[in-house]
Amino acid sequence: MTSSRVLVLNSGSSSVKYQLLDMSDGSRLAMGLVERIGEETSRLKHTPAGGASREWNGSIADHDAALKAVAEELSRDGLGLDSPELAAIGHRVVHGGKHFTEPTVIDDAVLAEIERLIPVAPLHNPANLTGIRTAQALRPDLPQVAVFDTAFHTTMPESAARYAIDVETADEHRIRRYGFHGTSHAYVSRATAELLGKSPEEVNVIVLHLGNGASASAVRGGRCVDTSMGLTPLEGLVMGTRSGDMDPAVIFHLMRVGGMSADEIDTLLNKKSGLIGLCGDNDMREIRRRIDEGDESAQLAFDIYIHRLKKYIGAYYAVLGRVDAVAFTAGVGENASPVREAAVAGLEELGLVVDGELNAVRSDEPRLISPEHARVAVAVVPTDEELEIATQTYALVKGSENLT
Ligand code: AMP
Repeated sequence: MTSSRVLVLNSGSSSVKYQLLDMSDGSRLAMGLVERIGEETSRLKHTPAGGASREWNGSIADHDAALKAVAEELSRDGLGLDSPELAAIGHRVVHGGKHFTEPTVIDDAVLAEIERLIPVAPLHNPANLTGIRTAQALRPDLPQVAVFDTAFHTTMPESAARYAIDVETADEHRIRRYGFHGTSHAYVSRATAELLGKSPEEVNVIVLHLGNGASASAVRGGRCVDTSMGLTPLEGLVMGTRSGDMDPAVIFHLMRVGGMSADEIDTLLNKKSGLIGLCGDNDMREIRRRIDEGDESAQLAFDIYIHRLKKYIGAYYAVLGRVDAVAFTAGVGENASPVREAAVAGLEELGLVVDGELNAVRSDEPRLISPEHARVAVAVVPTDEELEIATQTYALVKGSENLT
């Protein structure tokens, strides 16, 4: 029997998202989510392909119990993790530092390196490690692959990756711009080239990943040359709950004058800023609804969001020199037509125009929203990070099988 299934695991500190894919055709066999791990009110939601979702509420003590519960649900659909059809498990790992430029089969040395990177990803890497160790215990015989959120951005030149701070201090603490959402930027830039009928090497693309977290990237000929997130996902665009760019002196000011601690400021900037800090809502649907009712703080939040987005489009246009396409993706980018319209409004001189009718179309397919003969294509390209992780995992595992 050929093994063509890949389980994709995205382990957070108190959650595990999973998808089981069949890589013979890229189809999804099942997907689900375990939330609030370690609490009394944990929840597992499991959805088999073509079937109804099943929900389980109760207490799931830790990641080990969570993965066992997931395995049980999969077994009920005849998709058990003990199946010989399972080829590998692909793990989303948030921070791979400078070291991991590609998906990597996990061994002890890889685990140690992911652990060494915890100081630059204190929330994410420990959770990712827990997920990996749990999956290893469940299927020790199976290849486990780490797919890093930072890997796609490791091609950034030093001029884009370095902060202009003392080099010794930066090196000592591994301070540089790493970028995140890399699997999405990789997938979407490639899919955009495909939509244009070209190979990735032939096109320059600005990718705007606008979800609750948001980042932009400049991709030249399939390689990332700049991205808006930095040492952490805090830098760059205005996000649902993160501030994005601001004068770093705001932090000293809050410490010295506001009497706030580093942890309090961390929470302020990561969880209570961005759209939610500006107007009390981080869901773009709600913000648009409030704007339609004449709400001024929602309008201002929207305007600040768009202003920042436009600045990055302009900056990356200059970085790339020639732009073939601007691609919108993720929850806001795929669904919020007013955001897409406002982001390129007034940029006709740069060749950027959105067709109102095309922009209003709702679809799950990659599509162009610029007029037919526009100089720069504007596209909506739904992202699929799980498929990308599974594709990279499967390619690596099958590639190494062929070598042996
Ligand atoms: P993501 O992080 O990619 O899952 O994106 C989540 C965000 O997408 C939500 O917080 C919403 O702001 C936004 N979103 C989802 N659906 C819509 C929609 N139909 N219109 C506008 N925004 C949406």
